[in-house]
Amino acid sequence: MAPKTNSGIVDRSNLIPFSSRLKEGKALAQDVWSIFAAANLPADCINLGQGYMNFAPPEWVTKAAEEALHSVAPNHYSHPRGRIRLREAIKSFYGPQLNRDLDVESEILVTSGANEGQYSVFTAFLEQGDEVIMFEPFFDQYLPSVTFNGGKPVYVPLHPPTDSKIKSSSNEWTLDIAELRRAITPRTKMIIVNTPHNPVGKVFTKQELEAIASLAEEFNLLVMADEVYDCLVFDGKEHVRIANLPGMWDRTVTVGSAGKAFAATGWRIGWLIGPASIIQPTLAASTRIVFCSNSPLQEAAATGLEQAKERKFFENQLSEYAERRKVLCDAFDEIGLKYTLPEGSYFVLLDISEVKFPEDYPFPKSVLGRGRDFRACWFIAVELGVSSIPVSEFYCDEHANIGEAYARFAFCKDVDTLKKAVERLRRLKEYM
Ligand code: GLN
Repeated sequence: MAPKTNSGIVDRSNLIPFSSRLKEGKALAQDVWSIFAAANLPADCINLGQGYMNFAPPEWVTKAAEEALHSVAPNHYSHPRGRIRLREAIKSFYGPQLNRDLDVESEILVTSGANEGQYSVFTAFLEQGDEVIMFEPFFDQYLPSVTFNGGKPVYVPLHPPTDSKIKSSSNEWTLDIAELRRAITPRTKMIIVNTPHNPVGKVFTKQELEAIASLAEEFNLLVMADEVYDCLVFDGKEHVRIANLPGMWDRTVTVGSAGKAFAATGWRIGWLIGPASIIQPTLAASTRIVFCSNSPLQEAAATGLEQAKERKFFENQLSEYAERRKVLCDAFDEIGLKYTLPEGSYFVLLDISEVKFPEDYPFPKSVLGRGRDFRACWFIAVELGVSSIPVSEFYCDEHANIGEAYARFAFCKDVDTLKKAVERLRRLKEYM
């Protein structure tokens, strides 16, 4: 029976209680992407918030998508493993990087974006109460993906640079291996290693990955290597794949993304690469979650990977991103606020703890009661016209104060837009 209100009227507004699993993993809190969505901000605000491009995928890739849409088979279900052409393309592209002759039937799985792939790994491997270690700050989606599958997140910090110089490198965000070891318990099942890292831009060194790998071996952990920004590693720095370290192939699943590679974040095409012992159970989960992924765009992603090398696509794309990074970071140098120069990914963390704003500013309810960074980012978006993402969102509640010092600016935008944005951001000096 529906409950009666005081006036005796039956309240039908909440007849069916929703699952308690939504009460965990911050799932009910409004997510940062929705709060800082363009629709909530002034129409002319420049979006350096949510990480998506303001340019289209390359024309030769979208042409392949159009062709697929005009054929018959690619408009229908694909095999749950993914379309064979894309799996073959992944094999040719990644095989040499992983020094393996990848088996397209058992070692590659196409997923509905990297997110769904990761979710399916959690579904396939977590028992109730299994612990998953993630480095803070962490990409926010990991948290509910773990808790929805009965897992328990365990946080190990990346320690921010402590000195007062304007420009730090993302490799000054450091991992304390002793601290990581202390976080491991008999219930630890998995560790997520995100390199290049969102939001820090850190590219983990071989040494750091070797130390993590040795703990994974010692405690028999599954390693989720989230490498969706693998095509964005700057300054000749080496992108080390943890799956390539001795013994690690057998316990590592590597995650990739067409969205990042081909400026197509809305396509929701990603992939997992790993041993059959990880991919096959994950296929079982993924088949029952989505059955298969978007078919025509798998064909387009296949074209992207097939032709990338002869077109020198990733080399050219990387130099374009290096120029974009420079526009933003040069401006931060000049403004004089501390920031982290990313070695990878397309994010810059700006220290906004010195940015002052009136506490009685007319903030919307969505940012009140959250970290100071939510209010600072809101103020900067509305007053200066450039949006960013408050970094406390990437921390658990107990450590949110560390993230509150930072705003994340995305530079996956064309240079003209970035130049316009930095003109506006120069006004930060008025608030320091
Ligand atoms: N990966 C993107 C970012 O960090 C977008 C994430 C999302 O919208 N869920 O900006």
